[in-house]
Amino acid sequence: MSDIHIDGLVKTFGSTRAVDGISLTVRSGEMFFLVGPSGCGKTTLLRMLAGFSTPDSGQIRFGSEDVTALAPNQRDIGMVFQGYALWPHMTVAENIGFGLKMRRVPKEEADQRVTEVIDLTGLTGMGDRKPNALSGGQQQRVALARALVIRPNLLLLDEPLSNLDAKLRIEMRREIRRICKQSGTTAIYVTHDQDEALSMSDRMAVLNAGRVQQCDTPVDSYRKPASKFVAEFLGEANLILAELVDVDDRFARVRLAADRPMFHVEHAMDPAQARTGVAAPLMIRPADLHPVPVRDDSGSVANSDLVALGQARVIDTQFFGSSTSMAVEGEFPLEGTLRIQSPSQAADLQEGDQVTLYGSQSAMWLLPQDPPA
Ligand code: ATP
Repeated sequence: MSDIHIDGLVKTFGSTRAVDGISLTVRSGEMFFLVGPSGCGKTTLLRMLAGFSTPDSGQIRFGSEDVTALAPNQRDIGMVFQGYALWPHMTVAENIGFGLKMRRVPKEEADQRVTEVIDLTGLTGMGDRKPNALSGGQQQRVALARALVIRPNLLLLDEPLSNLDAKLRIEMRREIRRICKQSGTTAIYVTHDQDEALSMSDRMAVLNAGRVQQCDTPVDSYRKPASKFVAEFLGEANLILAELVDVDDRFARVRLAADRPMFHVEHAMDPAQARTGVAAPLMIRPADLHPVPVRDDSGSVANSDLVALGQARVIDTQFFGSSTSMAVEGEFPLEGTLRIQSPSQAADLQEGDQVTLYGSQSAMWLLPQDPPA
């Protein structure tokens, strides 16, 4: 198998640039995700990869082979969509083996390959059943087995889990990843569900309005977003406005007010474009904010990674079992509501309580400044 190269791909529908100049390389054996809100161009890009739609410009290569003009059946692509579209009159094994029959693979080899993928996908013993005697999760496994049995150059998955209930979806996330990794398949997976992308991908591209906003590992995309859009798409993000004092390639020095102490944080800025003395959004994920009731706060925390951000008042608490979510109002400038997520046993706070808010310095991340008005 070889790398997949997407180079300067453009697709327009009337005046809509559905895919607006996308370039990406997906490495051999990689589980790569395309994520983004509805209408960002995920499906349009996937359809061009599959060969169902022709780009206006740009190129798609599998290794060194230009496949841009090839028909779908010449690309050796496996596909799994949200509707499984299994043949109801065929058994599981017949459904899985159908693509091999079409390709005129000799029966003995075909039977062996079908048995292998049945085992790989956890369907051992179910080969003789009809699809209507399978659960939703098992049908999804058959759809995956059917796509993998042809040993595709590339496996495309388009929202494959959206028909399953929440619990099964989480179980199948693990299973799909295991199966792709075990078979060494290169996969591109489309979803609007950020949790699916964060938990399953090796790398992910976040799309907006037909363009790639960021292409990174899940950890870096979540912790070091390139923009406010990515920060907010991938999960709750508190955005506190901080004044930029100075900046080098890696760190920025900021303060929340002229009379407040300065501290260093890593940043997503281009130092050449950064404007000192101007506010920038400082991102802190809810789990990286630590409230200490003012009555208990001695002013000297033991953890040197924590920076005191200021005083705040709890305005709402929600208990979720493993964690508690709180909304607080702070004394510093903020975009939107400030949210905190604390381990349940640590959160003994009520509405109206005054707290000192500490932020984990190593987890804070300074986003680019808004362009000058
Ligand atoms: P969703 O998550 O809702 O499926 P998506 O990210 O897959 O969205 P696309 O289906 O790729 O988005 O659509 C991107 C843009 O192109 C949208 O504005 C959509 O309305 C437009 N579009 C897609 N297909 C067509 C078409 N055949 N004709 C006209 N416009 C289209």
